[in-house]
Amino acid sequence: MWRRFLPRSSFFSKKASSSIGATPRFLSTNSVGSSSYTIVDHTYDAVVVGAGGAGLRAAIGLSEHGFNTACITKLFPTRSHTVAAQGGINAALGNMSEDDWRWHMYDTVKGSDWLGDQDAIQYMCREAPKAVIELENYGLPFSRTEDGKIYQRAFGGQSLNFGKGGQAYRCACAADRTGHALLHTLYGQAMKHNTQFFVEYFALDLIMGKDDMQLILRHVAVINGAGTCHGVIALNMEDGTLHRFRAANTILATGGYGRTYFSATSAHTCTGDGNAMVARAGLPLEDLEFVQFHPTGIYGAGCLITEGSRGEGGILRNSEGERFMERYAPTAKDLASRDVVSRSMTMEIREGRGVGPLKDHIYLHLNHLPPDVLKERLPGISETAAIFAGVDVTKEPIPVLPTVHYNMGGIPTNYHGEVIHIKGDDPDAVIPGLMAAGEAACASVHGANRLGANSLLDIVVFGRACANRVAEICKAGQKQKPLENDAGERTIAWLDKLRNASGSLPTSKIRLNMQRVMQNNAAVFRTQETLEEGCQLIDKTWESFHDVKVSDRSLIWNSDLIETIELENLLINASITMHSAEARKESRGAHAREDFTKRDDENWMKHTLGYWENEKVRLAYRPVHMNTLDDQVESFPPKARVY
Ligand SMILES: Cc1cc2nc3c(=O)[nH]c(=O)nc-3n(C[C@H](O)[C@H](O)[C@H](O)COP(=O)(O)OP(=O)(O)OC[C@H]3O[C@@H](n4cnc5c(N)ncnc54)[C@H](O)[C@@H]3O)c2cc1C
Repeated sequence: MWRRFLPRSSFFSKKASSSIGATPRFLSTNSVGSSSYTIVDHTYDAVVVGAGGAGLRAAIGLSEHGFNTACITKLFPTRSHTVAAQGGINAALGNMSEDDWRWHMYDTVKGSDWLGDQDAIQYMCREAPKAVIELENYGLPFSRTEDGKIYQRAFGGQSLNFGKGGQAYRCACAADRTGHALLHTLYGQAMKHNTQFFVEYFALDLIMGKDDMQLILRHVAVINGAGTCHGVIALNMEDGTLHRFRAANTILATGGYGRTYFSATSAHTCTGDGNAMVARAGLPLEDLEFVQFHPTGIYGAGCLITEGSRGEGGILRNSEGERFMERYAPTAKDLASRDVVSRSMTMEIREGRGVGPLKDHIYLHLNHLPPDVLKERLPGISETAAIFAGVDVTKEPIPVLPTVHYNMGGIPTNYHGEVIHIKGDDPDAVIPGLMAAGEAACASVHGANRLGANSLLDIVVFGRACANRVAEICKAGQKQKPLENDAGERTIAWLDKLRNASGSLPTSKIRLNMQRVMQNNAAVFRTQETLEEGCQLIDKTWESFHDVKVSDRSLIWNSDLIETIELENLLINASITMHSAEARKESRGAHAREDFTKRDDENWMKHTLGYWENEKVRLAYRPVHMNTLDDQVESFPPKARVY
């Protein structure tokens, strides 16, 4: 087994300051082997890791409530993946027809294939209209109807009247650049408040309490049932200094881990860092086996063509020119939910009706739509199709293929955003001081399959929920225990070890191996054979990481080192995903097994919890919340999911 280097002497010779303030209170230097590291200590009421939609919305709320807040981000905020979101954000505003948040809730429960927690889903759908109006008030330039209301388009899986009233027009958008508009609007708001940004700081690990010492043995965590989070340790990528952020509240909003796969719509920066930080602290990750494939990634390039293109009337056709979705989903057709459309496309290709010389993809037609609709509602994807597929959408179809797009699973939380784990008989025990929101989190509102335009909603609703919860349970300026002198010590030893790694395998090679394994063995359709092989291969890939080679030894803009840390994070996510998928012997939402083709509510209506212990995956389970928050709505009992 790979042993981490552990220094004999403590890194920290003096006590860290306990006063709260934006300015660093304390500097020290520490040595590991021949290296010396500068440590800067900070204290805040709250530290948010991530400046995508979820992180920014949490930071805005915290600052509004008067909390001294730091926002750490490895990217400049407006480069976060949220910027790439195209289609829009769901809310039952009722601007196009009558609508009701309970109908939205029903669609979301059904979309989740009854794995979503219904209290959290109620919370999200009920808060949605307020959240979108709030964005409008913040200045988000939504597309408009003739009479000046927020325009709402059709999106997959959205219906009226509990599935009986036909297609709902519920997705508010800013043309097909909604994420761009949303992220810039939120960043503007965050600037208005007193949030302290730490831009291009890379969060490495959580700082857990000394009482939980077993929890912080990286990769050899032992669960002792308790745990308090006291902040994070981060690397300033510009100058190599290390920063210990002590905080009464830590909110992880680090996004998804799409880059475990070879072909993904997500940015190269979506590497599941927050998830891996949680796993390394001995806490579980929930439902990672549920990985969403978006039906329409551009063939070859993987770039996304929004579902909004089908919402505006786009149609999928096979090599015979047939609109095949009519066979698989007679009512919703091309707007059935994503898992259903992705599987249908895969079946068409398998049965020899794919298009192109290799018959290995499908055509998305927009060329029958009026050019002014394309210009006004879908300008971004018209441009993307021209650049990445060489296609003029007014004349030709776009070649598309199901592509990894979203992680339903993540850090388990309740609907307040508090991170939970199993403690004794309590499957929902809260970890004090630790919260999560956005794609990194699993609230769980998406269950086994997320509906399009429910993630932009999730990030703003639960980013805000985290801030509100902190305001309920904590006071600004609340006194905090001093950090242990050696807090973060193991993380620094590990960083030093990685920086000096002199194995034989470059990071890019191991990463490619991992991406191939995930693409081949945890695909749209899965079997025991592919998943068992996948487990063996991903375990081997993890082992090979012990032989990684980092060539750049510096601490200034060392992208080789950063990519290696990201690779380790990806590998932890990939391992838990594969093992969780192998264990789940049913088909539900995005997890489609050819050997267990039915949903099995009796045995499998439960959340998977994947722990990372001794460099291996251990699985446990917690029940799905079938209860609602109050009597405004009754819970929706499971039934067959047809579109
Ligand atoms: C191409 C595309 C289109 C999409 N379109 C839609 C849509 O139309 N509607 C919809 O509802 N959903 C859509 N989604 C999904 C949705 O956009 C994302 O799930 C959502 O934006 C994620 O937001 P987030 O705030 O959780 O994370 P992100 O926006 O990914 O932000 C993550 C943040 O964490 C920071 N971070 C990560 N790791 C570290 C670290 N180690 N240290 C410090 N900082 C770190 C990053 O700097 C970044 O600021 C789309 C996704 C993609 C990929």
